[in-house]
Amino acid sequence: MSHEDFPTENPAVVTCGLPYANGDLHIGHLRTYVGGDIYSRSLRTLGQQTAFVSGSDMHGTPVAVNAEKEGVTPEEFALRHHEKYEATFPRFNIEFDNYGHTHDETNTELTQEIVRTLEAEGYVYEKEIPVAYDPDADQWLPDRFVEGACPYCGAHARGDECDEGCARHLEPGEIEDPTSTLTGNPAEYREREHKFFAVSDLQDYLQEFIDRLEGTSNARNQPREWIEGELQDWCITRDMDWGIDYPGVSESAEDSEADQTESGRDEGDESDGSSSPSGTSDLVLYVWVDAPVEYVSSTKQYTERVGADTFDWEVAWKDAGDIVHIIGRDIIQHHTVFWPAMLRGAGYVEPRAVMASGFITLNGKGFSTSRNRAVWADEYLDEGFHPDLLRYYLATNGGFQQDVDFSWSKFKDRVNSELVGTVGNFLYRSMLFAYRNFEGTPDVSELHSEASETGSRAAEVSEEVEARIEEAIDEFEAGINDYSVRKSGNAAVRLAQFGNEYIQRNEPWKLTDEDPEAAAQVIRDCVQIAKAIAVLFFPVAPGKMQALWEQLGEDGSVADTGVDDAFEAPPASFGEPEALFEKIEDERVEELNEKLEARVAETESESDESDGDAEEDMDADTDADADIDFEPIADDRISFEEFQELDIRVGEIVAAEGIDGADKLAKLTVDIGVEERQIVAGIKQLHDLDSLAGSKVVIVANLEKAGLFGVESNGMLLAAGDEADILTTHGDAVPGTKVQ
Ligand SMILES: [Zn+2]
Repeated sequence: MSHEDFPTENPAVVTCGLPYANGDLHIGHLRTYVGGDIYSRSLRTLGQQTAFVSGSDMHGTPVAVNAEKEGVTPEEFALRHHEKYEATFPRFNIEFDNYGHTHDETNTELTQEIVRTLEAEGYVYEKEIPVAYDPDADQWLPDRFVEGACPYCGAHARGDECDEGCARHLEPGEIEDPTSTLTGNPAEYREREHKFFAVSDLQDYLQEFIDRLEGTSNARNQPREWIEGELQDWCITRDMDWGIDYPGVSESAEDSEADQTESGRDEGDESDGSSSPSGTSDLVLYVWVDAPVEYVSSTKQYTERVGADTFDWEVAWKDAGDIVHIIGRDIIQHHTVFWPAMLRGAGYVEPRAVMASGFITLNGKGFSTSRNRAVWADEYLDEGFHPDLLRYYLATNGGFQQDVDFSWSKFKDRVNSELVGTVGNFLYRSMLFAYRNFEGTPDVSELHSEASETGSRAAEVSEEVEARIEEAIDEFEAGINDYSVRKSGNAAVRLAQFGNEYIQRNEPWKLTDEDPEAAAQVIRDCVQIAKAIAVLFFPVAPGKMQALWEQLGEDGSVADTGVDDAFEAPPASFGEPEALFEKIEDERVEELNEKLEARVAETESESDESDGDAEEDMDADTDADADIDFEPIADDRISFEEFQELDIRVGEIVAAEGIDGADKLAKLTVDIGVEERQIVAGIKQLHDLDSLAGSKVVIVANLEKAGLFGVESNGMLLAAGDEADILTTHGDAVPGTKVQ
């Protein structure tokens, strides 16, 4: 780690990837925002000065395309979604210090200022490039107005992104076999002058930067391929009306009009100045220029509201800030190559860390907004579930960079076993015991008349419990410095687990008569543990932990506490506690699953009746059918001995790469504890190979070796179904562990 551990003396800025103002939010979308909220709250608990900001991404072609479909202006369309998002986040206790949008004045001005600086520093140049053009519609085709084949992997791709294949950013002119999405006709390439940002001039800088960058390993490793290869300059302008004008355009409008006639615009469309095929007067900035600038603009707006004494955006962004970007893994390249280059070129500080989350699936398959195969954010709340339950599920179900599957049944299991069974159970039983026997926190000061002078942090708490709370704080802190909200979030759950074990082992209910002093001490310890849980679990479950805080008789907000408060004595008296978490019944899960299935079926039958026009889906989706024909269960039984002949082991993928010439095969290096194995698996097209490293898998270790496409396969990866859903472990079994 090249940076000082948190908490530092610097102001920190935690940002969340801007939601695109183009649709409704489902619970899968919430993952990065929940992660960002937990991370920023955790930093504050550590005592770090922190601003948590984001905003809606209003520009770009998807908004323009959809607004046109609805017959409204792009601004109206995007603002409607922006307002919806702004209202939805707080309902999930996601509380940004500032939530702006990219079309507001602050962001417009700041973006133009940054581009002007880049230009003044010599990082911007003009170049004539081929741009897709639809002759029938008489219109340029930026980004999503054009589709075709990815020049890198051949997959079907959109104009600016290979969204179904290698996930690369695509420059204008790169897409092969271009088709206009306006008319469905083949598009032409025509020469057109555009502005470029010379990212390649910053290659040396970026190579050093990536070595310093912290965060999740996908965000630190994936960009190396781009940064160490031939770095492309980015075209930063588009032929569109919707967006932020290229700065200085109004002053030079006359010149560009002149250019226009010179560069030989198409004959016959002189009457229509709005879609003139050349000249730079109608260029707007590419959406990926102004979108990340919103991180800075939003921080600036926060400062304007609270004052620079509370948080100084200029110190954070131009001098010595610890900037942490929390994003989905599909936009790693933008945040680790393009954006740091822009910041560097314009004289801003570089990001300290990028945390890139994995995707989220629903019952093992992709969310599909067009099929209504989703649990919508509003719907979750309308079903009466507390937001903190979902926050806990999303934050702690897997590592941040791993894909997470949501199902109502898994959700129920984790809520019931961990939140109800572990955390809720400990809090309720210990506080109820304290209330009934001591009307609050037992007074054990007489037992500790000496200890209070020994410098103990929690004078009235037993040494064992004090040490265990210290350990929980260390785990919490380590989680933050490892950029793992799962680790920091689990610190409190593990403390509650200890609490249950502690109360069970010491049986205070037996001691109340035999040894009241000992009983008082045990309960005093438990109340302190409860208070420590309130402090450490607050970032994950702010609503529930505020309720606990009040149950403990504490004043104010847990948000204003820090880790040291975990050792402060709780108030002497408190009332009868109430259970904080409620069990989810099996019937409820069945009901929710049925609702989901019915809705998907309804949407599918509706779309069957419609003109069969395949609706574009914004999500990573699979085409798997809802009703699968399962293979019949095998009739022949095998003996336990026969089963035991299989040597099945837990492994961890070290590396994964495609095998040249084989469409479906990937070569995996798998650590199985005793050794590393090379295994060939048919998962090339079904998984993002770059993100597999670090994943736990299950393999058959004693299968005969085989040769596939000239590559030896020494073992078999277990995976379910046609989609090759890779088997993994539920707990922490280490590589090499035998599966039995
Ligand atoms: Zn591709």
